[in-house]
Amino acid sequence: MTDTQARIKVAIQKSGRLTDRSLELLERCGLKYTRGRDQLIGFGENMPVDVLLVRDDDIPGLVRDDVCDLGIVGMNVLEERRLQFVAEGHAEPFRVVRPLDYGRCRLAFGYPEDGPIRAVGELGGRRVATSYPRIVQDYLTRTGVDARVVEFSGAVEIAPSLGRADVICDLVSTGATLAANRLREGETILDSQAILIQTPQQVPPGKTEWIDRLLQRIDGVMQVRESKYVMMNAPIAALPEITRLLPGAEAPTVIPLEGRGDKVAIHVVCRENVFWETLENLKRAGASSLLVLPVEKMLP
Ligand code: ATP
Ligand code: ZN
Repeated sequence: MTDTQARIKVAIQKSGRLTDRSLELLERCGLKYTRGRDQLIGFGENMPVDVLLVRDDDIPGLVRDDVCDLGIVGMNVLEERRLQFVAEGHAEPFRVVRPLDYGRCRLAFGYPEDGPIRAVGELGGRRVATSYPRIVQDYLTRTGVDARVVEFSGAVEIAPSLGRADVICDLVSTGATLAANRLREGETILDSQAILIQTPQQVPPGKTEWIDRLLQRIDGVMQVRESKYVMMNAPIAALPEITRLLPGAEAPTVIPLEGRGDKVAIHVVCRENVFWETLENLKRAGASSLLVLPVEKMLP
């Protein structure tokens, strides 16, 4: 690391549902950081990577303006901001690098249980409360429904009981909040999860190496989550059937076993979880001494 090397800034949520998993992801990429006194920046100690801790709503703008090189934010916030930025004339405000497979939720309609409305098609002339006015308006326009969108910055679920709206469109994960407010879940208009985004600007030469390394490590972390290293012994003739049974397997390594006739050792990385049923099927196909190990790190 040289003094002149540009530092990479990654924006993540300061405190909320995405914070722990985002920090864990960066830590699993090898990043060690110290928090500044104001707690707003994590200074990377062993890589030229700093973490900016901000409100999730600010992340798309920080990345668009190239204040941060990368950001992690929910698809819901990202899509709402994208519609806003595009309306303001930014053709490509940020690049979506990859979904990160956490922070899953959905943006869905909620209809009062004792009310008359059961579906989007019945929303003509009604009011929809939401914190995602652009996504909802875009959806209503595309479905040809003429409803009025009422923006709420929080506590959307109480809007119908306050008489401020007829229905809501809000984030749902378990549905418990809807149920507690006597709302029935309706159509989903967006499936969301945490997304890694990058500025649309050309990466300056001083930053390419570490951005590439970080993205490759994130890929590695994502891949090992479900991956397993599977070892077993089997007759060589059973190899085609064994390969077929292994979920998401790469080409196996086949090693002859000294003095065991046609028996071989098979080692293989599976990109999906390996369940007991799979092991039982492998045993039926002729495998023995089965061993499944977690994968710690992976670099393709
Ligand atoms: P901030 O203070 O950063 O603005 P916030 O209150 O907007 O925080 P959180 O409630 O922490 O945000 O949610 C952050 C993100 O987590 C959401 O935008 C969404 O992508 C995701 N998420 C996952 N499950 C849920 C859920 N059940 N309800 C709300 N958001 C969820
Ligand atoms: Zn927010």
